[in-house]
Amino acid sequence: MRLSSLSFWWLLLLLSVDFIYGQDYYSVLGVSRSASSREIKKKYKQLSKKYHPDKNPGDKEAEQKFVQLAEAYEVLSDDEKRQIYDKYGEEGLKQQNQGGGGFHNPFDIFASFFGGGHFGHQSQSERQGPSIVMELEVELKELYLGTQIEVDVSKQVICEHCRGSGAKNANDVITCNVCGGRGMKVVKQQLGPGIFQQFHSTCDTCGGKGKIIKSKCPVCNGKKVRRGNEQLTIIVEKGQDDDGTIVFEKEGDESPDTIPGDIIFKVKTLPDSIFERKGNDLYAKQTISLIDALTGFEKNITHLDGRDVLLKRDGVTQPGFTQTIKNEGMPQFRSSVNGNLYVQYTVIFPSIIDDSTKQGKKYLMVNI
Ligand SMILES: [Zn+2]
Ligand SMILES: [Zn+2]
Repeated sequence: MRLSSLSFWWLLLLLSVDFIYGQDYYSVLGVSRSASSREIKKKYKQLSKKYHPDKNPGDKEAEQKFVQLAEAYEVLSDDEKRQIYDKYGEEGLKQQNQGGGGFHNPFDIFASFFGGGHFGHQSQSERQGPSIVMELEVELKELYLGTQIEVDVSKQVICEHCRGSGAKNANDVITCNVCGGRGMKVVKQQLGPGIFQQFHSTCDTCGGKGKIIKSKCPVCNGKKVRRGNEQLTIIVEKGQDDDGTIVFEKEGDESPDTIPGDIIFKVKTLPDSIFERKGNDLYAKQTISLIDALTGFEKNITHLDGRDVLLKRDGVTQPGFTQTIKNEGMPQFRSSVNGNLYVQYTVIFPSIIDDSTKQGKKYLMVNI
């Protein structure tokens, strides 16, 4: 009696510990246990954006939620891990993970959704579909400051109605009666009198699938897929290279038998009216009057972020002279260092010169 009551308390303690430390990945993401992988992905994208530490500076609760979301997504987006979790819970996953593994960096998982990053694995036997490559035109200002661009990409998606089976109902998929489900049939061909060749050929009734569809899905008309769209948030980081790529892994066209390819955006910088970029440096041209060229000047140039940058010269500035302004170039990608700004001066000569200026000629000659 004593013993059993003790073990009862033990059990209660264990349960409560589990209750505190364990977490239901489905409720973390706010999806039902039968949620489709598409639904899980959508929800993760939506919530991880909301709880990202950059959006909630100093908010420990949001940070914790962000980490939990990544953990939940990592488990539920992986069919194998999801099955283990459904059957054995978190303990089962921990056992599977023994000897290395564990969770990925939550920021890597987040990045794989918003361009960049390489999260996830792929078994070699699965075929991956082609990637969708698109040009992303951005202003130089956007590359200087960094920006977010929302795009709506048209792509092929798996029909939700039949979940990619192409059939009206699950029991409308039946075994092909021509090949008996083998997908192949034996063909006998007469080569000459009494000589037959026997060979295997793909069953054309079922197209080698071994199964045929009795009545087609009314939504996709048996095609298994339909035209759809994907809302993507592209994060253009400060200092991103021109011609650089922002990759959304496995967000390409969906197809029942293949892994979707990637959606790849190629950065293309639009010409800027003031600045030209070469690597991490910026180049600008500035015109100055002859008097400024001779006596020095102070001018402002408006930078890409709207800030005024002082251009200051003492004494003579030769036509074509290039002034270096340190650290006012482009920010370096994922670094706190900036390139330089190079300003080249063009001197505007007056078209006429009056008498009083002419009188100063002698004075100028002395200094040349
Ligand atoms: Zn067949
Ligand atoms: Zn369908």
